[in-house]
Amino acid sequence: MGLLSEGSPLSWEETKALADHVRKHGIQQFINQFKRLKSRKRDYLYWGDEVEYMLVKFDRERKTAKLSLRASDVLHELQKAEKQNPQSHPTTWRPEYAAYMVEGTPGKPYGGLMAHFNLVEANMRLRRTEIKKCLAEDEFPLALTCFPRLGCPGFSSPDTTPTPEAGASRSLFFADEVIFQGHPRFRTLTRNIRQRRGKKVAINIPVFKDKYTPDPFVEDLTQYGDTGEGATGSKPDHIYMDCMGFGMGCSCLQVTFQACHIEEARNLYDQLTPLCPIMLALSAASPVYRGYLSDNDTRWTVIAQSVDDRTEEEMGLKPLEKDRFVINKSRYDSVDSYLSSSAYSDIELVYDKDLYKDLINGGIDDLLAKHVAHLFIRDPVSLFSEKVNQNDEVDTDHFENIQSTNWQTMRFKPPPPDSNIGWRVEFRPMEVQLTDFENAAFTTFMVLMTRVILTFGLKFIIPLTKVDENLKRSFKRDAVLEQKFYFRKDILTDCSPPEAEDAVIQCCDGGKKCNIQDQYTQLSINDIIHGKEDFPGLLPLIENYMDMVEIDVDTRCTIKQYLNLISCRAKGKLKTTARWIRDFVQSHPDYKQDSLVSESINYDLLLKCAQISEGTQSDDTLLPSTVDTKTSDEIPSAILKEQKLMCNNCP
Ligand code: ADP
Ligand code: MG
Ligand code: MG
Repeated sequence: MGLLSEGSPLSWEETKALADHVRKHGIQQFINQFKRLKSRKRDYLYWGDEVEYMLVKFDRERKTAKLSLRASDVLHELQKAEKQNPQSHPTTWRPEYAAYMVEGTPGKPYGGLMAHFNLVEANMRLRRTEIKKCLAEDEFPLALTCFPRLGCPGFSSPDTTPTPEAGASRSLFFADEVIFQGHPRFRTLTRNIRQRRGKKVAINIPVFKDKYTPDPFVEDLTQYGDTGEGATGSKPDHIYMDCMGFGMGCSCLQVTFQACHIEEARNLYDQLTPLCPIMLALSAASPVYRGYLSDNDTRWTVIAQSVDDRTEEEMGLKPLEKDRFVINKSRYDSVDSYLSSSAYSDIELVYDKDLYKDLINGGIDDLLAKHVAHLFIRDPVSLFSEKVNQNDEVDTDHFENIQSTNWQTMRFKPPPPDSNIGWRVEFRPMEVQLTDFENAAFTTFMVLMTRVILTFGLKFIIPLTKVDENLKRSFKRDAVLEQKFYFRKDILTDCSPPEAEDAVIQCCDGGKKCNIQDQYTQLSINDIIHGKEDFPGLLPLIENYMDMVEIDVDTRCTIKQYLNLISCRAKGKLKTTARWIRDFVQSHPDYKQDSLVSESINYDLLLKCAQISEGTQSDDTLLPSTVDTKTSDEIPSAILKEQKLMCNNCP
């Protein structure tokens, strides 16, 4: 969701004119905050998930499923209970980009007890129950990564008409009313990204070529009112989309972890970075865009292109005159540097040298200074008049302004001012799944990975160019089964970083020298998850860890079912949501093998999704045939007492 400052948004020209001011003070705020909090120690291993839901309205007579633009009213209702009881209400609700989205998180983060894993699914269920109470009978909350007919005529309720000649997005397909109206941030971001770029964003996703898909696939965009920008921006054989809403209107599943101290947070950030493409492929859930089957299975490149505010100079298409940097990626993309070691950061980092100097002079070390100075090559894309002048000793809004509009695979989150929150990292790539069971499974798997990384000192880092190559592979159709991914061979060996630039590193085991290139290999996701020959596998490591710690019977039973889901998806015994959606579409009687996902297919698909998420229908190609976790709203007091005694680092 990002920073929701209150106030009146400035125009793009006013915001641009204040960009240096925001950056200068943002850096100062970070330095001040860092100085205060760098030696914070012994924070708890808190963690929490974020799930984004879409509100879908079904018309059973007309057989339509539309996005209901009622998030503002629904949120108002949802937040009432939280406002009355901020300390103890079990859920938290926040707005998201679109007027059909809401974001739900647990009321407070989970802690270090194993029994906390048994609360996640029950809390997600409670969230669904809470939303449903605010919805009409024909509306339903769906945890859907991408609404298949987003941007098709009549996709919203009430119906909306795009205004290509005016407004924030100027989209041919997506009216401004579909942007969340309850806070000006989202509209302002949309307008400013377009104005900064100098034209609309152009999102092109390869279309899935079926037997009767036109060849080449080229749409006549004049039917939507295109006067040329669409024709220039769209590519043949691609699904074309033209505004921020197509990306930021997708839902996802994110998990945030608090570390005990800053060094641990930096290490976690680094070790989780190579897992991003793997988990994106494993959670793939979005194969349809603007009513067409695509050749991608995930949302990632759609969002990256949807907020790409780089100018032609910044893209390297014209010599630099007005702008300062050639930038290799969108603001929404993968990370460009590690935080605990430079040895594997082989992407040439673009960073603001002056701000870097300020950071170094402010006592920040080289790696962290480069990370922040890299985030700060961007302009602020929303600024409120009331927030221009801040007290850098206490405020952090300018820092958060830039930080929260760098939407990367991982986010390193400094503690907010005046809080008892510690250094955190956020794992951001995963696609949201239809059921609470699956979302709890992916969340639990990732949290257990952090435990295993910290307990066994695992090292996953490989050169970032290889992580980027993996990310490209992870988008592709059926990547989970078809692709191989660069992965570190010896994740147990504690290699120290190379002393020299020549990338030769000293391995601890036996003192022999080895090159970075010899440290990684290419593995399938099945091998990564289950292990192979001398590669131990992530699941066996988690199981080892579970054997070492005390777990009550119910929690063990629940976790076992979550790990089974991950295992079955990695093996291909169960389909990813993306594959399941493809198969549903392609075997629908109305499907004409032309890549088109019609209104009737969309209706039947989403109805089925709703039934599966309700548990009133099952499909054992997607989910295990018996799902019976012992998830519960509370930790039984006897277990709480027993586990607290055993865990000396628990809240
Ligand atoms: P974002 O900036 O990504 O929107 P949120 O503030 O919405 O982040 O929180 C994301 C998740 O972090 C939520 O699940 C929340 O419960 C969890 N969380 C809150 N406080 C902490 C903490 N101290 N440590 C770890 N996770 C936390
Ligand atoms: Mg959030
Ligand atoms: Mg988040």
